Amino acid sequence: MDLLEYQGKQLFAKHGIPTSSGKAVTTVDDAVAAANEVGYPVVVKAQVLIGGRGKAGGVKLAANEAEAREHASNILGLDIKGHITRTVWIEHASDIETEYYASILLDRSAKKPMLMFSVEGGIDIEQVAEETPEKLVKHHIDPLAGPTVEEIAGVVRGGGADEDVVDQLAELLVKLYTVWLEEDASLCEINPLIITPDREVKALDAKVSLDDNAAFRHPDHEGLGDTANSDPIELKAKEEGVTYVALDGDIGILGNGAGLVMSTLDVVAQAGGEPANFLDAGGGSDADTVKQAVELILSNPKVKAVLFNIFGGITRCDEVAKGLIAAFGDLKPSVPFVVRLDGTNDVIGRELLQEAALPNVHTATTMNDAAAQVVALAKGA
Ligand code: GDP
Ligand code: MN
Repeated sequence: MDLLEYQGKQLFAKHGIPTSSGKAVTTVDDAVAAANEVGYPVVVKAQVLIGGRGKAGGVKLAANEAEAREHASNILGLDIKGHITRTVWIEHASDIETEYYASILLDRSAKKPMLMFSVEGGIDIEQVAEETPEKLVKHHIDPLAGPTVEEIAGVVRGGGADEDVVDQLAELLVKLYTVWLEEDASLCEINPLIITPDREVKALDAKVSLDDNAAFRHPDHEGLGDTANSDPIELKAKEEGVTYVALDGDIGILGNGAGLVMSTLDVVAQAGGEPANFLDAGGGSDADTVKQAVELILSNPKVKAVLFNIFGGITRCDEVAKGLIAAFGDLKPSVPFVVRLDGTNDVIGRELLQEAALPNVHTATTMNDAAAQVVALAKGA
């Protein structure tokens, strides 16, 4: 999961990394109030999960209240490369003398954390890596021992950092490593990492990606990320622990197991249809999970027909049939369903469906047949 800049900065601050304190707001009036509170000049920053906000007009300095109002009203709602700005972060503007770059990430091929540092900050690091690779230093960190301040001081000195800030930089980067490790991040990037005219080092931007597989260790991370720009059905699915990805078409898809769902998407596309979602009910799903999944699919108003493609292994087809019957009882869907049950207890499952005589439910025995049926139903609807 990628964090918004201000969320990353809050994690940095929690571990003692110098940042400017500020406020995240969603309306122009609140932005002005926040600006008055943090004191002018302020910087108004679009909170979207995409880089290059500065160039896109999403980062503006304001010297007074009128400018703060003007920038906040321009930036709120601003489309930055397809990301709509719903939140702005207001912080007291910093004086910048120099802009450096630093990041910590996992180098998978070396199986070690890696620190990257450059005195060419503020610009795209990809550009630095391409045009002046000698100005980007890379340093592997021993994952068992962790980095020492002396070690990192040597790295930034080698990278050309100003001598008077070497110790401050090293201390900051050791803290950045602590963020990376303790918060289970896969990336912690600061660009620019600035030096003020008073020779203080500070993180002016923050790009943090957290490892979702470690989310269970961090209840305090709940609610982070760009929730305002996420698909509401995806958010609900996440809460319920179901794998759901919203797509653009009109055929709802439910399967069990990522492989089966992916091939279902393929056969539906081959049959000339467009899937509305990817929903994996997982292995061993019971009647309740199936019911929840149907509810999620039907909450998308674009769905014109639903394809159930279940291969019973650990999952029992009779449980799936029971879930579907329960869902129909509660939700009374108005769109047709095509159901293909195969594998463990499929005969019992099909019998249950037949007895229930659900309106507008069609059965299929093969995946291709199921896809053809559902595409025809979606087109006819
Ligand atoms: P990005 O464009 O998405 O990477 O957003 P950044 O947070 O990195 O901001 C872009 C640029 O705006 C920075 O490189 C700075 O040059 C400038 N900027 C951001 N905050 C401040 C500030 O507090 N003071 C000044 N003078 N410039 C700032
Ligand atoms: Mn930046």
